[in-house]
Amino acid sequence: MTSPRPAVKPLIVAVDDDPAVLAAVSRDLRRHYGESYRVVRADSGARALELVQEAKLRGDDVALFLADQRMPRMSGLEFLEQARELYPDARRVLLTAYADTEASIRAINETQLHYYLMKPWDPPEERLYPVLDDLLDDWRAQWHPAFTGVTVVGHAYAPSTHALKDFLTRNLVPYRWLDVELSPEAEPLLKAAAAGPADLPVVVLPDGAALLAPELAEVAARVGLKQRPALKSYDLVIVGAGPAGLAAAVYGASEGLATLLVEAEAPGGQAGLSSAIENYLGFPSGLSGGDLTRRAVTQARRFGAEILNPVRAVALRREDPYRIVTLSDGSEVAARAVLIATGVAYRRLDAPGADELAGAGVYYGAAVTEAMSVKDRRAFVVGAGNSAGQAAMYLSRFASEVVVLVRGSGLAASMSSYLIAQLEANERVKVRCRTVVAGLHGQGRLERVTLRDLDSGQETDEEAAAVFVFIGASPHTEWLPEEVARDPQGYVLAGEDLPAAGQGKRERAWLETSVPGVFVAGDVRSRSVKRIASAVGEGAMAVQAVHRYLAGA
Ligand SMILES: Cc1cc2nc3c(=O)[nH]c(=O)nc-3n(C[C@H](O)[C@H](O)[C@H](O)COP(=O)(O)OP(=O)(O)OC[C@H]3O[C@@H](n4cnc5c(N)ncnc54)[C@H](O)[C@@H]3O)c2cc1C
Repeated sequence: MTSPRPAVKPLIVAVDDDPAVLAAVSRDLRRHYGESYRVVRADSGARALELVQEAKLRGDDVALFLADQRMPRMSGLEFLEQARELYPDARRVLLTAYADTEASIRAINETQLHYYLMKPWDPPEERLYPVLDDLLDDWRAQWHPAFTGVTVVGHAYAPSTHALKDFLTRNLVPYRWLDVELSPEAEPLLKAAAAGPADLPVVVLPDGAALLAPELAEVAARVGLKQRPALKSYDLVIVGAGPAGLAAAVYGASEGLATLLVEAEAPGGQAGLSSAIENYLGFPSGLSGGDLTRRAVTQARRFGAEILNPVRAVALRREDPYRIVTLSDGSEVAARAVLIATGVAYRRLDAPGADELAGAGVYYGAAVTEAMSVKDRRAFVVGAGNSAGQAAMYLSRFASEVVVLVRGSGLAASMSSYLIAQLEANERVKVRCRTVVAGLHGQGRLERVTLRDLDSGQETDEEAAAVFVFIGASPHTEWLPEEVARDPQGYVLAGEDLPAAGQGKRERAWLETSVPGVFVAGDVRSRSVKRIASAVGEGAMAVQAVHRYLAGA
């Protein structure tokens, strides 16, 4: 689905006190980006800030700031820091001399600089445009121009509204959100759609059609997501489009296999929920799960992989030489080989009120989607792993206070030290160890939590805008037949983890399960490393094992 092109071009702001450099950089920027962006230039940080303030008042969007570090009154970094307050989503790039490299690397962490470019940047085709193209693509992906396509109107704390917003966010469908209680635009829109309170949430599509309290499948179909396979049989059917499944789709399709990817919710899997992945190779200033997913989906599609979602695989059976996957609508698709890449599901919070308030203040892995709902209020994060730490950091940009509740006596055993350091340095984040949620309360939405101190047994009642839960996971393997062997926790066994093959029986390849032609990759595999890079690696390697299997080796 495409959204209408905006009438006003977003801005690229170039700042340099050296007239020759400013002229050169502006010329290069206009030559490559002039068609889609308006390039404005300023000869000092102060002048640039004036321009940026004027742009803000006019309602213009700024996509990118490019500032020279060495300017006499206001350095590039100082300017970028101030500009960020007005346009937090704009990409920030520093133009540096070799001698400033150390300061630039520090700035990546401290001021969340997106990139630093070394002068001179000639030839721009090699040293300027590829970097800026990437940054501008990212910016565009999260950009919501004034008249973007889809509008959602609903109650902020209704579980059905949360499910809908989460679905659109994770499927990278840009939408405008109108809270029926707060937004003056909501009422006229509902009136035009002839929608009453029972019809919420309402989705208004770019063509003006209104869907009243729609099922996700209906929304999916109307925003252009594909739910039926084009073929009856494929070389490779991959179940699950997290990092493992997406990597397998890229390698499978690029190596000539007719590849179908079936995803129950939204591509990206757990990684798609991450607000900041900082340890993925090649992205020194980190990237969001949404960005990683968008890139991977584009790449898989470019090579010809077909992606269905939201479509769940509900059964698998063997009909030699095929493996048959049953889909949630009852239809079947045949495959010469199947890859199970279904990852894991969040463990639910075990406290009174948790189920009733799920989606209405209690969220599982949804820090990105619901961050705005805690603006200037108090949020709790439950968990001690990296996902909890990342969520707390992200939420602290919005909430007045984020309290991380940890059952154990510290974070060191379960969280990366860089994240622990970030939490400790963040004034808005408090970590409470040996503390659990004992109850959740509220009329229709979460209002308070009861916390229990595990050492004293004492309970306290505290105000809470939201509780974000990250307390581990269990594998998505309930849909598999018994023949696919699993460990006692339900994770799929493969290769040498399977019981030894009997005499005369074929040895299983590394990622092959107990059923020949059925492979497994990523978090759902027994004893796998639960990381994005390892899931991606296993997805790619599984395709090699599929090739060998199909070749009869
Ligand atoms: C909030 C958060 C932050 C994280 N941050 C990091 C990080 O910074 N660095 C890092 O290395 N790791 C991180 N992780 C861990 C990382 O995301 C996982 O290890 C990785 O996503 C595993 O990939 P996967 O493809 O195996 O499974 P998943 O990502 O779990 O994807 C599985 C997919 O399969 C789908 N599915 C399940 N059942 C079915 C079915 N029956 N039919 C069709 N589809 C199905 C699911 O909907 C899901 O999309 C984070 C995890 C979370 C939750």
